[in-house]
Amino acid sequence: MSGLPGADRVVIAGAGVAGATAAETLRKEGFSGEIVLAGAEVDEPYRRPALSKDVLSGKIDIARARLRPPEFWASQGITLLTGVSVVDADTTRRTVTLGDGQTLGYSALLLATGGRPRALPGTSGSRVHHLREYSDVPALRTRLTAGNSLLVLGGGLIGSEVASTATELGCQVTVLEAQDRPLARLLPALVANAVAGLHRSAGVQLCTGVALTALDADDRGVRATARDGRTWDAEAAAVAVGMTPNTELAARIGIEVDNGIVVDELLRTSADGVFAAGDVANTPNLVLGGRQRGEHWNTAQEHGVAAAKSILGTGSPFDSVPWSWSNQFGRNIQVVGWPDADDELVVRGDLDALDFTAICRRGGRIVGAITIGRPKDIRAIRTLIGASPEAEAKLLLDPSTDLAALANQDVVTRR
Ligand SMILES: Cc1cc2nc3c(=O)[nH]c(=O)nc-3n(C[C@H](O)[C@H](O)[C@H](O)COP(=O)(O)OP(=O)(O)OC[C@H]3O[C@@H](n4cnc5c(N)ncnc54)[C@H](O)[C@@H]3O)c2cc1C
Repeated sequence: MSGLPGADRVVIAGAGVAGATAAETLRKEGFSGEIVLAGAEVDEPYRRPALSKDVLSGKIDIARARLRPPEFWASQGITLLTGVSVVDADTTRRTVTLGDGQTLGYSALLLATGGRPRALPGTSGSRVHHLREYSDVPALRTRLTAGNSLLVLGGGLIGSEVASTATELGCQVTVLEAQDRPLARLLPALVANAVAGLHRSAGVQLCTGVALTALDADDRGVRATARDGRTWDAEAAAVAVGMTPNTELAARIGIEVDNGIVVDELLRTSADGVFAAGDVANTPNLVLGGRQRGEHWNTAQEHGVAAAKSILGTGSPFDSVPWSWSNQFGRNIQVVGWPDADDELVVRGDLDALDFTAICRRGGRIVGAITIGRPKDIRAIRTLIGASPEAEAKLLLDPSTDLAALANQDVVTRR
C-alpha cells in the first residue's frame, strides 16, 4: 500500500456492519481506488446481534455469524485488516496512523467505530461480564450452565436478551433494573409491562426500581447491593447498562463530538473528507426534527450505504425511519420509528397474549410502533411515518383497516 497522502484511497476505521457495508457499497457503486477496512477486533466482520442470542446460547459459532465468507474481502479488492486500530489522523494532510505503525494517505476517511459497554464504576473481576464483542462471549458462556445463578444489571435490550438466553440454558436469572420497568428507555409502559410479563412467566426474577450502590465480586461469586439495603448474590453478573460511543479518535483529531460524532444529513463530520456512520454517528432527524444517535443494526447498515455514496459524491440526505428487532423467549419484538415512554398508544390486537401492534402517536402524528407477532404491520407503519403520519387514531384502531393498503394508498396519493 502506498503511504502517500492524497492517494485515491478510502480508509474505514471500524469493521462492524457500518464500516463493512460502506466498503462493499463503495465497490458496488464503482469506486476503483483502494479500500482499507481496519477493525480493532481480531474477528472478521460478523453479525453482532447474534452475540446475545444464538452465539451465546451455543447454537451457532462465530464462523456462522460472519457477515461474509473470509475470501469475500480480497475478492472485492478490499484490504481487511483485523486486530488493527486507526490510532490517529491528520485531517489537514489527510493521513491516518494505524496501530501497526503504518501511515496511510486517504482521499476519504470513514469513522465507524461503534461503541463499548458502559461500565458501572468500581465493578470488575472475572465474574463480572459485559457483552459487546465476540471476545466477551466465551467467558460469559462458561457461567451459563444449568443451575447457575446470574445477575443481569440493566433491563434494556441487551440485558433482556442475555436474561432470555441464560434462562433458556437453565440458569436462575435475576434482572436488576433502575427504572420501574425493563426496556423503559425503548418502549412505552404498556408494552414494556407486557414484555416484563413474558420474562416473569419464563422464570426471570425481575426487580425494578433498584438503585445499585455496589457490585462486589470475588472468586466465589458476586453480590449486588441497593441503596435501600437489599442484596442479591449470584455466581456471576452480566452488566448491561448501555453503551458509550467510541468518539475518542474523532475528538483527538479535532472533530466535533456531542453524544457521538456530529454529522450532517450526508454523514459528513466537521472535518473535510471525514465521514461517520453507525452507532457512533449523531445524525439530524429529518423526519421529526432534532438529532439522534441510533444503536440499531439496520440503521448502522443503512448508514454504511449512505456514507459510501456520500464519499462518492452521489449521496442523498439520510432520512430513513429506524427499524430494529429483538428476540426474547422465542418472541420476535420489532420496533419502528422513535417510540417514547409518554406517547399516546393505539393498540391493535392483544397485549396480554403478546400478539399486537402498538402504534405510538405524538402531537397527532404517528412516530413509531412496536409489534410482537405482526411484522407486516411494522413495514406498513414505517411507510406511514415517513409518508402520512397524520392517519386518524380511529382508522388505525379499526381491525378491518389494512395498514399495508393504507400505507400504499398514501404513498400513491402523495406522488
Ligand atoms: C449483544 C448485542 C446484541 C444486539 N442485538 C441487536 C438486535 O437484536 N437488533 C438490533 O437492531 N440491534 C442489535 N444490536 C445493536 C447492533 O449490533 C449495533 O447497532 C451495530 O452493530 C452497530 O454497528 P456499527 O458498525 O456502527 O458499530 P459496531 O458494531 O460497534 O462496530 C464498530 C467496530 O469498530 C471497532 N473500532 C472501534 N474503534 C476503532 C478504531 N479506532 N480503529 C478501528 N476499529 C475500531 C470496534 O472494535 C468494532 O468492531 C446489538 C448489539 C449487541 C452488542
